[in-house]
Amino acid sequence: MNCAESRLFLHAYADAELDVANSRELERHLKSCAACSAAQKSMQSLKMAVRQSLLRYDAPDSLRKEVRRMARGSGDETRPHLLQSLRLWRSLAFGTTAVTLAAILLRPAGVSERDRILNEAVASHVRSLMVEHLTDVASSDQHTVKPWFNGKLDFAPVVTDFAAQGFPLVGGRLDYLNGRTVAALVYRRNKHFINVFIWPAANAGRGELAVENRRGYFVINHEAGGLHYCLVSDLNAEELAQLAKLFGQ
Ligand SMILES: [Zn+2]
Repeated sequence: MNCAESRLFLHAYADAELDVANSRELERHLKSCAACSAAQKSMQSLKMAVRQSLLRYDAPDSLRKEVRRMARGSGDETRPHLLQSLRLWRSLAFGTTAVTLAAILLRPAGVSERDRILNEAVASHVRSLMVEHLTDVASSDQHTVKPWFNGKLDFAPVVTDFAAQGFPLVGGRLDYLNGRTVAALVYRRNKHFINVFIWPAANAGRGELAVENRRGYFVINHEAGGLHYCLVSDLNAEELAQLAKLFGQ
């Protein structure tokens, strides 16, 4: 199984709707592919978040009526629509297809791309601490962590141990943010862990730091040297900004 096939199957797999043979194939691929494995973990945490937030709705009457109306129709051309409606109704009524539901909920124009990225970054930070999957490569040696990313990303993250400045490098891992594989570097400041998500910058590097508080975590976005840095931690904003600045202005 290649990555494109794996991505196609991930949603069905997350909903336990994938047949056994393909599930085995996918599991084998996930073991050997860090990028797809990161995508799967991201999907799982989204599912968990939706489940925990009690986002369950009864199907509205209009949708029930529409399903009944289509069920009465006999033409073959209505079948795909009917199946889709039934699927949608089922997911809305029972909340079983959490990923589908999340996709619907996350689509409204009210949620900006920026909001979505920040929320995903905080969710990834929390998940990395909760499931004890902080690092794929645990090392304070930048010469070990940097080459580990080779061939796993389409860009080269800058990996520096800032122990001398009070931010020792803990390690790195692949993560999945904003629909792409990103590098996550993990630093420590006393007892606080800091995730630094890195991906190619959309704009030419602007040095200023954008600091925000999301659900009790500080998030700093910052672009430098053609890369976007998104730092997330429960560390205070001042010290987090010190680390952000170390990645360049
Ligand atoms: Zn893959």
